[in-house]
Amino acid sequence: MGYRLILFFAVLMMACQPSDKEEEKPQIVTTTGMIADAVKNIVGETAEVEALMGPGVDPHLYKATQGDLQRLTEADIIFYNGLHLEGKMGEILEKLSRQKPVIAVAAEIDTSLLFRVPQFNNNYDPHIWFDVSLWSTAVRHITISMIKQQPLNKELYLANEAIYQSRLDSLNVFVKNEMASIPPRQRVLITAHDAFGYFGKAYDIEVKGLQGISTISEYGLRDVSDLVDFIIERKIKAVFVETSVSEKAINAVVQGCKQSGFDVQIGGNLYSDAMGKAGTPEGTYIGMVKANVSTIVNALK
Ligand SMILES: [Zn+2]
Repeated sequence: MGYRLILFFAVLMMACQPSDKEEEKPQIVTTTGMIADAVKNIVGETAEVEALMGPGVDPHLYKATQGDLQRLTEADIIFYNGLHLEGKMGEILEKLSRQKPVIAVAAEIDTSLLFRVPQFNNNYDPHIWFDVSLWSTAVRHITISMIKQQPLNKELYLANEAIYQSRLDSLNVFVKNEMASIPPRQRVLITAHDAFGYFGKAYDIEVKGLQGISTISEYGLRDVSDLVDFIIERKIKAVFVETSVSEKAINAVVQGCKQSGFDVQIGGNLYSDAMGKAGTPEGTYIGMVKANVSTIVNALK
């Protein structure tokens, strides 16, 4: 109780201070970096945008810290992925939605384009950013939502969106062409967790994950040996680690292959559920997708 009271007065005092220009801008808080990047591309300089989850952070397991709670409480608008990606933040987002706009970027995606996953409580696969055209729909929803919140900026937001959507269209074509350069027999993507389902469907590559859709599910020895058999049978050249998931699982697969006399390489690090470091090309959505594609193509071609 005491802490809450202090927090309440602290917020009250901040609200009473004369605000400089910076503070007049709406504060937007997002869960993942990919969402923050999309929002920044739409709002430009008209709002302050901040992501809670940085490089290497796994959204499935992420719990809001005290600092996060404060940022979420102070935010004017919150964007999150939805589809149960932020598995441990549901309750807090639900509470906040009674006080301010809390918007799921996946909300307007046609559900016929989504996969239901039996091992994920029959929910939809939340990894929508891996199909660039699904992500475009999320960007559309962000734009419409921002126009509702800041109607005076409508023209600017629409102009910004047009630029970003055309960059996403080019990215989509780029990914299709690059992936098509891998011989079909070698087009198999093996990763630690099942993040790449939409990627596989959109860009015609078979996808196998060791863990389920969420990193919460455990992998077992059986899963490892099944995957080892599959890799040896299909003579797969490389498997991939993910920046936001422990390497342990995929290393077990590599070791299993070695014990059976088959050398499978680690094809590199993929950005699955988090972008790279801010200020690097991989610290943007477009850069992250391009980096993944080049890692995959180099290892499998
Ligand atoms: Zn994931």
